[in-house]
Amino acid sequence: MNKRRPIVIANWKMFTDPLDGAQLAHDIVHSCQIGPSVDVVICPPFVSLTEVRKVISGSGIKLGAQNIFWEPNEGSYTGEISAQMISGLCEYVIVGHSERREYFDETDDVVNKKVKAGLQHGLQVIICVGESLAQNTADDTKDVVEHQVRSAYEGISRDEALHTVVAYEPIWAIGTGRAPTAFAANKVSEKYVRGTLERIYGHEVSQLIRIQYGGSINRGNISEFIVQTDIDGVLIGGSSLLSDEFAAILCVVYQQLVSD
Ligand code: PEP
Repeated sequence: MNKRRPIVIANWKMFTDPLDGAQLAHDIVHSCQIGPSVDVVICPPFVSLTEVRKVISGSGIKLGAQNIFWEPNEGSYTGEISAQMISGLCEYVIVGHSERREYFDETDDVVNKKVKAGLQHGLQVIICVGESLAQNTADDTKDVVEHQVRSAYEGISRDEALHTVVAYEPIWAIGTGRAPTAFAANKVSEKYVRGTLERIYGHEVSQLIRIQYGGSINRGNISEFIVQTDIDGVLIGGSSLLSDEFAAILCVVYQQLVSD
């Protein structure tokens, strides 16, 4: 049986100012049942972190950032925010989201630096990997995903790796309403992500690291994904901006735990 605690992450992307963010967080707190058996994390934009933190305090929901810069705490890096700056506010940080790789030229090397910076400052790091539509069509998913996983974990110790989560997000499924089959997503998680982690860290550690699926998750398809052996939760964009939809998804995740 899969003993990894499910983790559900809301990625609000560049939506919500501090006021809207606080309202959405309030709606989520009041429409979702949060228990200790699932890690629920909200990742608002940087400017909303403080307000959202106030609203979710005591609810069991955890806070994450969507990005960090890799350099140490202070320096002449206009517009950037270091891992240390958010470490007192957040428990989690997302790195390597495909939108950052695509629009901000984040290479595998940059992602690796950010993983290291996050871990150094005590953050739980969510590492996003996933292939493009062209790569998927060309049957390159295995090579792309395995390479991204290997690069992200370069120089990361076994102990540090236990503070990471991998989010498998096929780029063509993000925000498109078009998800792969749960079977296909599970195959990538099990064989290419966990398989690579096993080759780096050994069986025991690879079985402890959680792997999420992300891409067009909604209340209609969550039940297919959450029952898969190697999908330990979901990373949700669009559906996390609607408190009712997010609550419905969470409800299915909790129900699945009861029926296991
Ligand atoms: C995401 O932003 O990582 C994501 C999975 O978005 P969506 O759920 O909207 O596809």
